[in-house]
Amino acid sequence: MTTEHELVREAQERDGADPLAAKRGAFEVDDGTVYLDGNSLGALPKSVGARLAHVVTHEWGELRIRSWEESGWWTAPERIGDRIAPLVGAAEGQIVVGDSTSVNVFKAVVAALRLAAADDPARTELLVDEATFPTDGYLAESAARMTGATLTALPAAAMPDALGPATAALLVNHVDYRTGELNDLPGITAAARAAGARTVWDLCHSAGALPVGLDAHGVDLAVGCTYKFLNGGPGSPAYLYVRRGLQPRFDSPLPGWTGHADPFAMAPAYVPADGATRGRVGTPDILSMAALEEALTVWEGVDIDAVRAKSLALGDFFLRCVRTYVPEGAVTPLTPVEHGRRGSQVSLLCEPADAAGPVMDALVKRGVVGDFRRPGVLRFGITPLYTAFRDVERAARVLGEILRDTLT
Ligand SMILES: *Cc1c(COP(=O)(O)O)cnc(C)c1O
Repeated sequence: MTTEHELVREAQERDGADPLAAKRGAFEVDDGTVYLDGNSLGALPKSVGARLAHVVTHEWGELRIRSWEESGWWTAPERIGDRIAPLVGAAEGQIVVGDSTSVNVFKAVVAALRLAAADDPARTELLVDEATFPTDGYLAESAARMTGATLTALPAAAMPDALGPATAALLVNHVDYRTGELNDLPGITAAARAAGARTVWDLCHSAGALPVGLDAHGVDLAVGCTYKFLNGGPGSPAYLYVRRGLQPRFDSPLPGWTGHADPFAMAPAYVPADGATRGRVGTPDILSMAALEEALTVWEGVDIDAVRAKSLALGDFFLRCVRTYVPEGAVTPLTPVEHGRRGSQVSLLCEPADAAGPVMDALVKRGVVGDFRRPGVLRFGITPLYTAFRDVERAARVLGEILRDTLT
């Protein structure tokens, strides 16, 4: 059995050898608190404050209306989309930033159903991942009702076998927000393509944590938020990916004026802009966009494969520490141990389930911040740009101490 002393020393050695260790300095984090909730709200990149102050005092305060052009406000949704693109394996010109993930799920799902129906009116079935984050499920239900589609909820892994001539589209979460399980994006997308169905992937828990490969795998549509692993700030705008080949046929259910081909013509009839721009709706929220754009500068020179390698190494090390420190049977890992099936969080099921809330409260009091989801799931998010091996060692050690106290 590994001892505490050995794990502490190993953490030190691994932090010393970590090629991403220097990135931690770009964030407002310190060794007083172990922050393992970046899968809910990413930590603040240090340069964001100054950028926001400049946008407020200079661009808004002094230039005022001129900033729509001179400060690049009008084109921010496409420009920031192109900054996110390499992180999710997309060539430029396919991602537009704006609105919440929820709103983008609605745009993408309705557009997918419309595309499928235009190709073949017999395609009327929408499949949704049954473990989905709730908002996706609610919007899928509404989109189905609006378009006359039928909605079927099933496990993501069962989707390939459920595909048929009536399947119009699939809505799947790339990583399960509760368990941290990674769904098979290449496999499910390939099966959908072979069956003639459209895919909509929700990347909220994968973008910024692992390679996605949207273009390489032929994904049709994707959405994601920017305040989790992309650290864009509370409520920062989400994004919508529309594969280039589909853009001319992308028919948005929310055709706002900023997605118009000639917005300032103020024409009575809607004519969609070319490219990803047609996914835009209304006036961009510039302050949030500026924070996000600045937050994305931390990715300069970062290889997403190195991020993934560190994420998996941290997850493995955390699980080893949990096995060493936590009394047998007090928690059960919900997250698959296989690398190919894991996102960038470790979820532990607490037994009994109603202990999870008090256990997480105790962790937070002792400077280890994760969160919990009903029933009984403790979530520990791993953000490789700022999470250190010593962080996960301490988190597991404190968890072990708390669980020993509650069990005795
Ligand atoms: C976090 C998350 C969302 C959040 O949607 P908002 O509209 O930003 O509130 C949606 N889907 C998934 C899978 C998420 O993890």
